[in-house]
Amino acid sequence: MISKDMYELGSKKSAIRELFEYGKKQAEIVGRENVFDFSIGNPTVPAPECVKDSIIELLQTSKSQEIHGYTSAQGDLQVRKGIAEYMNNTYKSNLGADNFYMTCGAAASLTITLKALVADSEDEVVIIAPYFPEYKVFIRNAGAKVVVVPADTDTFQIDMDLLKEAISSKTKAIIINTPNNPSGAVYSEKTLRDLAELLEDKSEEYGNPVYLISDEPYREIVYDGLEIQYIPDYYGNTIVCYSYSKSLSLPGERIGYIMVPDSVVNSREVYTAVSGAGRSLGFVCAPSMFQKVVLKCIGKTSDVNLYDANRKLLYEGLTEMGYECVKPDGAFYLFVKSLEENSRRFAEEAKKLNLLIVPADDFGCPGYVRISYCVDPEMIKRSFDAFQKLFEVYS
Ligand code: PLP
Repeated sequence: MISKDMYELGSKKSAIRELFEYGKKQAEIVGRENVFDFSIGNPTVPAPECVKDSIIELLQTSKSQEIHGYTSAQGDLQVRKGIAEYMNNTYKSNLGADNFYMTCGAAASLTITLKALVADSEDEVVIIAPYFPEYKVFIRNAGAKVVVVPADTDTFQIDMDLLKEAISSKTKAIIINTPNNPSGAVYSEKTLRDLAELLEDKSEEYGNPVYLISDEPYREIVYDGLEIQYIPDYYGNTIVCYSYSKSLSLPGERIGYIMVPDSVVNSREVYTAVSGAGRSLGFVCAPSMFQKVVLKCIGKTSDVNLYDANRKLLYEGLTEMGYECVKPDGAFYLFVKSLEENSRRFAEEAKKLNLLIVPADDFGCPGYVRISYCVDPEMIKRSFDAFQKLFEVYS
């Protein structure tokens, strides 16, 4: 007898991964240049030079154990100190090494944080559509119930009235993701201020702190001079789940962190529970060499201008054809209104033209599709013909 739930989870791939695998097979049949794969958020902009330089330097100058050995379970002290200093200089925060727990990327950060917070099978965790589909998996794995706030499709900010209705005495936490996958929206100052006010009111009303989990793999990927946000400035009771997967184009290296500032309610207990959750899940000692690499590359990012150029090319190209698109302010996704009500069928129609776009049903936002533009700009240009043909199918 094995776990039925885990068996089911393992048997079906996410819609994104299924399309990505399909794309690879289809490329063998029709040729790579004839498949327009916009399915997955796998950065094509190379990691900055400092990544390669740091790896070479570390390999040449360190003892094997220093880069390949175990670090402390919560991560190397110097690395955590260095990240804290960087955050303090950048955001005027007051963080130290013991506010950080190094992880294998945002997925691990979220899994650990949820495991640390959820105390009871009645606990609820609120997510806001459109959301990263794996949130549901992670929340259920932590033993809590998922509560979804429907999308505000006028603005792709948060509908505060709907959020208010969704919060109950059982709400343990809310997950937000700004810049957002899949909408590309960045929450405005007003949204963050209103959110903070609501969470403070609700925490007081129920006599239980509502924790805000800020999932930030796209923190630095913002456009048109938008300021990078530091969410604990708005709501002190915020735990940040960060990842270098996108900012340094290192998704395969699995490196990130959890930040538990002192302003979090019962901060020390939460940090200890994070350490316990990391231990219980086997997420101790994040990849040793990459902890050191990210320290050496602190403050650097991949070239966001290249994503910006793709953003403009795709947004302008598609809106000119007549598609209705959400103007993305961050991340590297374009969220497009489906040309028929059934977005799964629309994505199937696109697939016939070798256009691989993800129906947003699994993001909790049917009626839209997600186009991931962290791709070669030449592929975007080549795909316009297919997008035009797709539009004509519905004209
Ligand atoms: N959260 C969001 C919103 C994401 O888009 C992703 C990856 O695409 C993750 C979390 C997982 O990130 P990581 O690869 O760092 O685990």
